Amino acid sequence: MTVILAIGGTDSSGGAGLTRDTAMAAELGTAVRPVVTAVTVQTNEAVLDVHPCPPPRVADQARAALATPPLPGAVKIGMLGSAAVAKAVDAALPAGLPIVLDPVLKASSGGALMEADGFGTLLRRAALVTPNLAELEVLSGVLGSPEAQAAALLAQGARAVLVKGGHGTGAESVDLLFTAEDAPAPFAAPRLAVSKRGTGCSLATAIACHLAKGDSLQEACRHGKDAVHRWLRR
Ligand code: PLP
Repeated sequence: MTVILAIGGTDSSGGAGLTRDTAMAAELGTAVRPVVTAVTVQTNEAVLDVHPCPPPRVADQARAALATPPLPGAVKIGMLGSAAVAKAVDAALPAGLPIVLDPVLKASSGGALMEADGFGTLLRRAALVTPNLAELEVLSGVLGSPEAQAAALLAQGARAVLVKGGHGTGAESVDLLFTAEDAPAPFAAPRLAVSKRGTGCSLATAIACHLAKGDSLQEACRHGKDAVHRWLRR
């Protein structure tokens, strides 16, 4: 059985966060060890309240999850909530475990879920960072093309950046994988006339599941995109 560690918030509306991570992982035959960073009070329309878990308790959960065999093969990080939690997570995770960091800043409803400058060394430690276009602009600090913004994130030390095109326009939704070594790699799927919450959570989780199964980064991005497309089509 493949296992991943999923670090993130609960979402009382059920659309995103750890519930969504667990559902996507289950579709891919993967078990989730959940680490709760915050309990959020949400509807589809608004973030009503956020109750953060104290950073040491987040670290305790991660350590306990990692001490439970079989060892997770990858880590998916979603909502962290604060720089202090990001630091505690960073300290609790062992070297060598691939990390997929979905740099969640806001819910789709607009409610803030994380400080923009709070990710710290996790941004550089992650095997992959998966910003949407809005997050890419904020994290890179660059007003320009997605290519220039991704290049700026790589220059800041990110190892690989998957820029999600789901909120763009056009017949296809195209995600672009940027690394320092290779030309940008596109991952496309037909754009569907559906609007669902939790697509970012689903994609990062699906990629983490495939990394845990031993796929290369490119294979994991391709399979992750396909898994999200299958879910959206249903
Ligand atoms: N709420 C929580 C607890 C999350 O973890 C996330 C994403 O990771 C979101 C909300 C954002 O999801 P959405 O953009 O679908 O609202």
